[in-house]
Amino acid sequence: MRNFSQNHEWLSINTATVRKSQGVELPLPKIIEACVEKGIGAISPWRDQVAAAGLPVVSKLVKNHGLKLSGYCRGGMFPAVDAAGIAAADLDNRKAVDEACELNAKCLVLVVGALPGALNGKAAHKDIGLSRSQVTDGIAKLLDYAKVCGMPLAIEPLHPMYAADRACINTLEHALDVCDQLDPSHSGAIGVAVDVYHVWWDPKLQNQIQRAGQKRLLAFHVCDWLLPTKDLLNDRGMMGDGVIDIPKIRGWVESEGFSGFSEVEIFSTENWWQKDHKEVLDTCIARHKSAV
Ligand code: ZN
Repeated sequence: MRNFSQNHEWLSINTATVRKSQGVELPLPKIIEACVEKGIGAISPWRDQVAAAGLPVVSKLVKNHGLKLSGYCRGGMFPAVDAAGIAAADLDNRKAVDEACELNAKCLVLVVGALPGALNGKAAHKDIGLSRSQVTDGIAKLLDYAKVCGMPLAIEPLHPMYAADRACINTLEHALDVCDQLDPSHSGAIGVAVDVYHVWWDPKLQNQIQRAGQKRLLAFHVCDWLLPTKDLLNDRGMMGDGVIDIPKIRGWVESEGFSGFSEVEIFSTENWWQKDHKEVLDTCIARHKSAV
């Protein structure tokens, strides 16, 4: 297992972590500037942040600073109530692949979606099985496109508390089942993003990381599970402040040959987004060394 205690060479910042500074929205170019200033060599930006700044602007900044992208957030949200909705999702996902290519991302992260409408508070139906089949179909279509572009797709299983509204793939095992179905040869065109926040509780975690192997392990996301967790979405903890044994999970992932970035991904309305972003980045660097 790599020794992270001496430097932050393998730290990546998911830009949602500093989406706000002292409660105020922080534009992506400012986030990039701050990361560069702190000697951080990789980021994982969100599409809305890229769109707000403009893709050409972001692409130029990334290239000029020699930044790497540990991933691009995000594609997915495949299920819909009708054919038009599914076609719209497919089109948007192909656009996400194009953006990821332009930014030379390691992978496009997929948050696959769940019951249509649920994210806005009203699910159109209760058939999670239907959503799951739409997800597999959607990924299959996107994979054909992404293969031509050479952009790997990383399915991110989300914690089951998001099964209704964000992702109906909730375990690493399920994500790998989809990978095996669509890519039996383990070509590297599709794999998983292992986010400790979503999978730390799973009794099959070590076993499924072994099953994934190097070809399928495309991204590793870190933060911590707080006690108590006050908000299901936006109360993620800083590494070391919660109950996840992050080094143990990183050890499992690296045992399979994963040698990429540890991407810090923290959504925190009441705590970290209220602090100055440079202070947050300093803490990420310190905890990357001590708690990852
Ligand atoms: Zn994640």
